[in-house]
Formats: sequence, structure tokens, C-alpha cells
Amino acid sequence: MAKKLTIALAGNPNSGKTTIFNNLTGARQHVGNWPGVTVEKKEGICRYNDYEIRVVDLPGTYSLTAYSLDELIARNFVVEERPDVVVDIVDASNLERNLYLTTQFMELGVKLVIALNMIDLAKAKGFKIDAKQLSEFLGAPVIPTVGHKNKGTDELIKAIVDMGNGNLNMRKVTVGYGEEVEEELKKIEELIERDEGVTQRYPSRWLALKLLEGDEEVIKKVRGKIRGTDRLEQVRKSSEHLKGIFGDDVESIIADRRYGFISGIYKRVVSKPAIERRTISDKIDSIVLHRVLGIPIFLFLMWLMFKFTFTFSETPMAWIEALQEWLGNAVSGLFAEEGVLQSLVVDGIIGGVGSVIIFVPIIFLLFLCIAILEDSGYMARAAFVMDRFMYKIGLHGRSFIPMILGFGCNIPGIMATRSIENKRDRFVTILVNPFMSCGARLPVYALLIGCFFPQKASTMLYIIYLIGIVMAIVMAKIFRRYLFPGPAAPFVMELPPYRVPTLKGVIIHMWERGVIFLKKAGTIIFASCILIWFLSSFPRNPEYSRDYDALIQKAESQWVVTQLENERAFEKLEKSYAGGLGRIIEPIVRPLGFDWKIGVGLVGGFLAKEIVVGTLGTLYAVGEGDEESEALREKIKRNYTPLVAFSLMIFTLLYIPCCASIGVIYRETNSWKWALFAAGYTTAIAWIMAFMVYQGGRLIGLG
Ligand code: GDP
Ligand code: MG
Repeated sequence: MAKKLTIALAGNPNSGKTTIFNNLTGARQHVGNWPGVTVEKKEGICRYNDYEIRVVDLPGTYSLTAYSLDELIARNFVVEERPDVVVDIVDASNLERNLYLTTQFMELGVKLVIALNMIDLAKAKGFKIDAKQLSEFLGAPVIPTVGHKNKGTDELIKAIVDMGNGNLNMRKVTVGYGEEVEEELKKIEELIERDEGVTQRYPSRWLALKLLEGDEEVIKKVRGKIRGTDRLEQVRKSSEHLKGIFGDDVESIIADRRYGFISGIYKRVVSKPAIERRTISDKIDSIVLHRVLGIPIFLFLMWLMFKFTFTFSETPMAWIEALQEWLGNAVSGLFAEEGVLQSLVVDGIIGGVGSVIIFVPIIFLLFLCIAILEDSGYMARAAFVMDRFMYKIGLHGRSFIPMILGFGCNIPGIMATRSIENKRDRFVTILVNPFMSCGARLPVYALLIGCFFPQKASTMLYIIYLIGIVMAIVMAKIFRRYLFPGPAAPFVMELPPYRVPTLKGVIIHMWERGVIFLKKAGTIIFASCILIWFLSSFPRNPEYSRDYDALIQKAESQWVVTQLENERAFEKLEKSYAGGLGRIIEPIVRPLGFDWKIGVGLVGGFLAKEIVVGTLGTLYAVGEGDEESEALREKIKRNYTPLVAFSLMIFTLLYIPCCASIGVIYRETNSWKWALFAAGYTTAIAWIMAFMVYQGGRLIGLG
């Protein structure tokens, strides 16, 4: 008995659908109407080995919205009748426009075979299309055909049959819509999935997308409450939220993203003739994505970003610093006498948390720059440019986006690797992500750079970030080679069109990331500064090496008194619990040029990297005898050298990711082995690098 398959032919008008329909079915066809409407419906039979294939010719459409009858017919047939395979006939000489419909079928989750028709025309126009790569990017077989010459028909039938009976295993490809849209999609999907009746028939992601696009047919299907929640209410909320961020209606945002997906593929699989009509976006791309200039442009923009950040954060930082000094002195005046409580507030909280808070302007400005680069569409280009390069080290541009997110915070960066389907690529990207310098490390650099390299601030910061990127790339290459060998999976980089970022969108993005930092300052940093203060202030009355009280009594001048008080405070700190802890750590960090205070700070930094600064702030505040509060910067400048500062920056950049990052690595890899590995190898590398910097620097007489 013949095995039966039903297939639907779809495609843009004039893509050659009728021609291919005739090639497939010959004379075995009949014409009728689609039920209820006077739109012509053609059906035919195609025989191949022992298969009998029913071929249905769908109306030619550019999309699958609910706006036009043709599109509704095409889409309802696919959704309701569930053909075994949808054959999408694509005009190769107009590939970009034709692929839009293709993305619609991909979203419907159908088994798709693509007939790359009119390749003769494409060739005549000077296009060269890499069908194999296209197939990998789309996750569907792509068969080049020339309809009117009946070329490629046999291959097409074979692919249809293989696809129909499940012999072809293609990668599942999803069009990504960017962080914000995806987040809203997920919310809507969750609501939809509570209603099994609907999801049995339609993919929930597709439904969610259509709802966001305002598709009336789909809205009709999900109207009403499911277990007390109105799904359309969520859709409205999501639309408003997205409109607020992008300043555009959701339908165009979604369409833009689809074109971005297509554009990314197109640029990879098609080589174009030199003369061609180009859009502004294309023109910008021809510079920004240039083979030679692309990477230098990216590096330059990054440098510009740091320059901007440093230049404009100087003034607000000076204000905050002045405010803190004033506050410290004012608050210590409030206390009747020097005591535990005064020390807790002034040294522990103002000295510790304050030394971190001061860097708020830098952090927000850097996030502002990143938000602008992302929202304008440039970051996607940066990833595209890096793709070629990343491919050489066995990764791809997709890995670059999580890495860029890591500049904000490694946690979302690591979570963003979920968009990487290949496990090897994903794990490598997770493992190297901590080298992307997150915002929490910025206070450490800002403090040290402000002390020792104020003239070359932005350049220094730039170098630190670059060292992080280079380390990430080097380690990725090594991991890819030795821990996760295997070929790199092909990936599409979405290239959404450029747009002028909206003020609101940029501010929301900056705020969302920056606020993490503020929250940390109020919670974990606050708590750990109190802990450090406690460790450094107790035991309250240690046994001193000298009888300071008696010496102070006998002192001849105020200057001597101050000296003695300082020495006493210093000795007390050394004999405190923190000092004890420091003595244990010191031998490990001594070869890197660090003293025990830095050592204690670095241990605290495991909780959150800002705590390195907070700890130093508290330790130095406690360790000073005088009451005048002085900027931490001054104390750091007196106690360390530029070489130590650089070594410390390198170490902070590279050493153990904070505990929250380790937690996320565990969650995303589902293995303590990898989480501990990430903690261990980064710290080892940090130690080696800082050792080389410090000892090397000393050898050539720098410190
Ligand atoms: P439909 O609107 O999608 O049904 O397209 P048709 O099948 O009617 O084809 C439109 C025109 O394109 C016809 O004149 C076909 O002869 C022509 N055509 C179909 N396939 C090809 C092809 O592969 N190459 C070229 N050059 N022309 C083709
Ligand atoms: Mg036709």
C-alpha cells in the first residue's frame, strides 16, 4: 500500500509556486475553491517510490497575518489541517524579502522544506547563495530549483519525503526578539500554557507573538479568563511596556527583529554584486561591518565609552566625596564621646559603604553608554564583527552577546547563554564569562586609577577591560580545544535595523542594571562592612606592646599625641580579628605586592566585588587615630604604589567570580564540578597574572 503524505506549497506571489506545483503533480491536479470563499484551491498528486503525496497549493502571500484573506487561508490550512510538510518556495533573486514568510513558518513550528527557486535569475543578477549554509541557519533543507526548466524537482521531492517521514533531523531554530520582547513573550506564554486546549493546536510561542502583534483571530481564540486571569490584560501590559521602551508599536518591533534575523543570515550566505541599491542601514553596515575596519571601530567605540564615562563622572563624584567627608565629620560630632557606636557609624558604615557609593556616577554612566550602543543596534553589529573572529577560536558571535552583557553583571551574561543551543559552546561561554569585567569591579579600578593614574584614567580602564576580553578569548580557545572539542555549530547573528535609541528606553536599561548595584550597596555591602568593622574593631582592648595611655600623658606636644594615637589605632587593628585573618592570608598575596588589608578585602570580594573597596574603606577608617575623616583615596595613595595598584586591578578582574555568579554557573550547568572549576581556574590565573605583573614590574624597576 502506498504511504501517504500531505504537503502544502507556500511562497510569495510570483515565486514560482504554480510552476513547481505543475512540476510536482504533472496532469494529476484539480481545481476547486477554499471552503466558504471564492479563492481558488488547487490540489494534485505526486508519486515517488511507494509514496503518494497530496500537494495543496496555498495562496501566494508575503506574510501570515490576519489582515488578508489569502494569508488567513494559508495559515489556517497549515494550522488546522497540519500538512506533513510545508514547502516554502523562495525567490532566490529576492531572498531577503522572501525569507520573511519563511520566518513565519518557522514560528508555526511546521516541518519545512525550502525550494530556493529562480537561482538562475539570482545568478544572472550576480548573487551567489550558499544553500548549505542557508539550510543550517534556517534549520530546514534548502533545495536549489529552476522551476520553468524543471530543475531540482527530484531533489525537492526526496527532501520532502525525508522530512515528512522524519528521516531528516534538522536543528530547531528560533527567531530571537531581544531581551525585552522575550521577557514579555515568556509571561504571555506562561498564561497561555495553562490552557491545554489551545496549546495542543498551536505552538504557545507563536500564539504569544501573535497576541503581541495584535492578531485579531488569535485574540478571539484566547479571549476570556483562564483560572481567574485575563490573558489579554497581560498582553496589554506587555505591549505598553515595550512601547515605552522602544517608542514604537510592538508590531513593528517584532517585524524589525524578524528582518534583523533575516539580514543576519543574508549577510552570511549571499555574496552580492558590487553595484546595488542600498539603504542607509546598509551603508552604515558597510563601514561598521567592514572586514578590516570592523574590529578597530569596535575597539574605538569602546575607548570612547570609557573616555565619556570618566570625563563626566568626575564632577558628581567630587560632590559625593565632599558630601561624605562632611557627613562623616558631622556625624562623629553628634556622638558625645568616642565609642563603639560612633566607630560603627563613622568607620564601618560611612567609611565602608560610602567608599563604594561614591562610584555610582561611573557605574551609571558606563551603563548608559552600553544601553545606547545596544538600543541603537550597534551591539548586534559588534557581535557580528566578532563572529568571524570568534569562529576562528571555535565559538561564534552568539557567545559575544552574553559576554557583552557580562560588562553589566556576569549573572545575566551567564543566563543569556541559554540562547546557545550547542552545549559545548554554551559551557565554554559560561566558563569564560566571569572575565568580562562586571560593574561591581569598577569601584576597585576607579579607586585605584583615581589614586595612581588620574591622567590616563580612561586608557587604563580600557586596558583592564581589554585584558579581560583577551583572557576570555584565550581561555575559550583552550577550553574549546581541550575540554569541549568538536565543530562549532552554525549560528545566525540577528542584525536589527539601526534606530535612534529613545531616551526612555536607554534610561530604563541603565536603571535596570545600575539599580542592582545600589541594592547591593544597601544590603550585602552594608552587611559585610559591618562585619568587617566588627572584625577590625574587636577585641576592643588588646594587649598593646607599649603603654600608650601613659606615653600620651607624658607627651610634650599635640603632634606627638596624634602620632601615638595613630600608632595605637594601627596596632589595635593589627591585633584585631581582621588582623588575625589578614596574617593568614598575607603569605598567599604577598608575592603579588598586597598587604594583609588588601588580602582581607579580596576575601570579602567573594561576596561581591565592591566589597574589596568597602573593606579597605572600613579598615583604613578604623586604623586611623584622628577624628578628621579623610578620603580613602589619600590613604591608598600613601600606602601603595602604582605597580601594586595595577597588580591588584588585574587580580580583581580575574579572580574568583562572586558567590552569586558561582551560584548561577552551578544552576546553568547543573553541576558543582563546573561551578568549582570556574572558581578555581579563574583564581589560579589571577594569581599567576598578578604575580607576573608585580614581580615583572619590580624586575624592570617599576615598584
Ligand atoms: P506563482 O505566482 O508563485 O505561482 O509563480 P508562477 O509559477 O506563476 O511563476 C511566475 C513566473 O516565473 C512564470 O513566468 C514562470 O515561468 C517563472 N519562473 C518560475 N520558476 C522560475 C525559475 O526558476 N527561474 C526563472 N527565471 N523563472 C521562473
Ligand atoms: Mg500561481
